[in-house]
Amino acid sequence: MTVLVVTNQKGGVGKTTTAISLGAALVQRGQHVLLVDLDPQANATSGLGVSKELPNAIYGVLLKNLPLREAVATTAMDGLDLVPSGPDMSAAEVELVPLMAREYRLREALRHTNGYDTVILDCPPSLGLLTVNALAAGDAVLIPVQCEYYALEGLAQLLKTIEAVRGRLNDRLEVLAIVLTMEDRRNRLSVQVIEEVHRHFPKLVARARIPRTVRLAEAPSHGLPIALYDPSSPAARAYDDLAGELAARLKSRAPIALGGAIA
Ligand code: ADP
Ligand code: MG
Repeated sequence: MTVLVVTNQKGGVGKTTTAISLGAALVQRGQHVLLVDLDPQANATSGLGVSKELPNAIYGVLLKNLPLREAVATTAMDGLDLVPSGPDMSAAEVELVPLMAREYRLREALRHTNGYDTVILDCPPSLGLLTVNALAAGDAVLIPVQCEYYALEGLAQLLKTIEAVRGRLNDRLEVLAIVLTMEDRRNRLSVQVIEEVHRHFPKLVARARIPRTVRLAEAPSHGLPIALYDPSSPAARAYDDLAGELAARLKSRAPIALGGAIA
């Protein structure tokens, strides 16, 4: 079982879209995937057509010792399961503070989880305790970066946080890839940003880039991953390419150690 952390403390960069779409692409490649929604905004939950009000959800797992398997919901896609989030998660960040081993709540919950090839953790847009819980539980980190001005802003701080978690909490943790999202080939700025990210992180950037397309923005309102909503779309193909590329990286054990990644 591989635990993939999708994180970037910036909001709106494509974390949730990537977590859902990549999860679905891995399922179509024959995997059994569990997506864990750690964001109080619960976009992955609603985007997969699951209620944000389920009594058994990630809050219970992290704060009330609810066994994770009791919080698992099914989705419209066979093989893609979800641990939903909900509004009570907005207090979780604070309520975790006084708990014992507060950074390891999720890792502990995942220890008794089996039957999945990949677990994907969709993080909130912050570097607080919820994200630290994800990083402490993860094997590999995926960083979505939007092809926009200021794309690199905050990345140094994110990489520093990952490095700190690796040093203190989880020495297995590796950065697997940066995924460029919302690419607009007609936009010169988009092209410049792609070049700049490649220049800074030559080995880390995934070959597969995700195009900006309204189909990806529409899919969540139907509660479907892009692989079901519009299977032949360029976006579905891009996420399938990404799934293949990441699977190959993981298999060849070629995730890049952070020290070598920062150019
Ligand atoms: P995050 O989880 O980082 O906050 P989201 O995945 O929720 O980001 O994406 C932010 C918004 O942009 C959402 O409305 C989403 O539907 C939209 N979006 C994400 N990726 C794309 C894309 N490649 N093309 C068009 N819209 C996108
Ligand atoms: Mg999100």
